[in-house]
This record gives sequence, C-alpha cells and structure tokens, in this order.
Amino acid sequence: MSGGDVPARSRGVIALVADNCTSCMLCARECPDWCIYIDSHKETTPAQAEGGRPRTVNVLDRFAIDYSLCMYCGICVEVCPYDALFWSPEYSYAATGIAELTQERDALGEWLPSVPDSDA
Ligand code: SF4
Ligand code: SF4
Repeated sequence: MSGGDVPARSRGVIALVADNCTSCMLCARECPDWCIYIDSHKETTPAQAEGGRPRTVNVLDRFAIDYSLCMYCGICVEVCPYDALFWSPEYSYAATGIAELTQERDALGEWLPSVPDSDA
C-alpha cells in the first residue's frame, strides 16, 4: 500500500540507501532499543600507485531493523553521517508473526521510492 494517504513526512518505516552505508555502526549504537542489526566485513584493495597505501573499506553484509522493537524515535535517521537512512510514510507492513517484523536490507531499500523528494 502506498503512503500517499498520509502526510508526506509521516514516520512510517525507515528506508535504507545501502550504497551510502559505511557500516560505521553509529545508528546501531545510538538506537535505544538495540533493534538495528548490522554485519559487515573488511576488504582491502591494493595501493593504486607505487608507494601508496592499501585501502581498507567496510562491506555491508546485513542491515536489518526489528520493527517489533522500534519505537520510531528517529535517532538512527538523525545520527547517520552518510545519508543512508530516511523516513518513509509507508506504514502497511503488517505480519502474521513477530519474527516477520524484522525487515532486511532489501525490504528497507524497496521503501526508498516513497521517501519525500525533499528528504532523499
Ligand atoms: S527509530 Fe529509534 S528505535 Fe527505531 S531503529 Fe531508529 S533509533 Fe532504533
Ligand atoms: S549510521 Fe548510517 S552509515 Fe553508519 S551504519 Fe548506520 S546507516 Fe550505515
């Protein structure tokens, strides 16, 4: 269901821009409910030039939010330094079991098109 029948800046769900996420863990550490789950690993790329240094980056393996615990405080959206989290007005994500309320990276990404243009 579209969130078109609620005000555009409503706090429905949190959408993730996975490409912007550096796995810095700031959102997970600041979340008062500990309901953001992040897994990542480090990858090293060789130096690009002679005498240069290899570069190490975090690669995101998992990003999930447990909406059975989330209290929609917005702290994660506010603290993300890399513009990876945005409020979507989508609200229809009912599930038949509590475990299904943990939304994984792909689902969080699918809510991006509903983020108001002024926020994304
Ligand atoms: S909105 Fe608040 S409770 Fe929900 S995931 Fe973000 S920081 Fe955690
Ligand atoms: S604060 Fe932003 S960049 Fe850091 S792990 Fe969370 S979503 Fe990713």
